[in-house]
Amino acid sequence: MKTKLGLLYGGKSAEHQVSLQTALAVMKALDLEKFEIHPIYINVEGRWIKGPQLMEPAETVKELAYSADSQVPAALSPALFQSENQENAELDVIFPLLHGPNGEDGTVQGLLEILNLPYVGNGVLASAAGMDKVVMKNIFAQAGLGQVNYVSFIKSEWTGAKEEAYEQVEKELGYPCFVKPANLGSSVGISKCRNRAELDTAFSEAFQFDRKVIIEEGVTAREIEIAVLGNDAPECSVAGEIVPKKDFYDYKAKYEDGETALIIPAEIPEDVYAVMKDMAIRAFKSLDCSGLVRADFFLTQDGKVLINEVNTMPGFTPFSMFPLLWKHTGVEYPQLIERLVDLAKERHAEKQ
Ligand code: ATP
Ligand code: MG
Ligand code: MG
Ligand code: MG
Repeated sequence: MKTKLGLLYGGKSAEHQVSLQTALAVMKALDLEKFEIHPIYINVEGRWIKGPQLMEPAETVKELAYSADSQVPAALSPALFQSENQENAELDVIFPLLHGPNGEDGTVQGLLEILNLPYVGNGVLASAAGMDKVVMKNIFAQAGLGQVNYVSFIKSEWTGAKEEAYEQVEKELGYPCFVKPANLGSSVGISKCRNRAELDTAFSEAFQFDRKVIIEEGVTAREIEIAVLGNDAPECSVAGEIVPKKDFYDYKAKYEDGETALIIPAEIPEDVYAVMKDMAIRAFKSLDCSGLVRADFFLTQDGKVLINEVNTMPGFTPFSMFPLLWKHTGVEYPQLIERLVDLAKERHAEKQ
């Protein structure tokens, strides 16, 4: 029996485009002897669309989706998750190939929980806690994981007292610092600030994406990432290093320039790798993760390892760090997808 796999992609998020790339890559990689693919596209307005027209070639997918007459009005309708071919046959597993708010943040995961459907990746709590950089860092702090200093403001605190906010940042963190929307990814809305004027611009920018921002002490460090896979007994990949050609690893460097070098395996001392693996697993467990995460680290010039974040639904094209790390660890892209689907089934079975 083929696994009926619902691929949920697109999404009402600044990372919509990234998700499209991922979905197309996954569709291409799936072994059709083993899987029946059911694409479910969420457009930028948040409308859910499904149907075989979504299997068209890359360039046309978006337009087709917009013009589709098979629009599904109610996201909560269980019918949405029923197979096209067999009227009452529900999908076996959903793979939410979504990044950012409304996809990676526990909301879609909550919907799938209510529908009692197995789904790939992290559950509600881990997704929500991992999406909010402030909550995540607070939990990491409690777990004793080393990280940069940070402060946070919600929009109303900032609008009411900008000077005070900037003074606090300067006193507690200094320059350079990084201003980020609390709930996002792909470096969207992130700025590096060297002075008060840049700080002011950066806050305005970040608040366009979120009502909460986090400001972090800027470190000069190498950027190393480790991929984690599993449920109760998670395993780590080899480490990979990111070498951005620019000032930092911003959105353009990630998806447009193709200039950033990914070095896999990272050339780091064995003991540093051991520390990172241990921290990656502790981070995974501290947020009660399942399925997968990509743990991002800073390796400072004096050899200190700091965790920057985990991503509960990391970039997942065949050229993204997470699949490349597993490839170098011995798990090819199609096998990686199958392993994630198995982990989803396993986790769901445990809950029953
Ligand atoms: P993604 O989810 O795609 O990994 P993100 O939007 O969650 O990205 P971060 O990973 O936190 O963002 O930051 C993006 C990049 O900005 C980092 O890869 C790094 O290059 C730079 N950066 C972020 N925070 C700091 C910091 N505190 N010090 C130095 N550089 C930083
Ligand atoms: Mg992130
Ligand atoms: Mg992310
Ligand atoms: Mg990151």
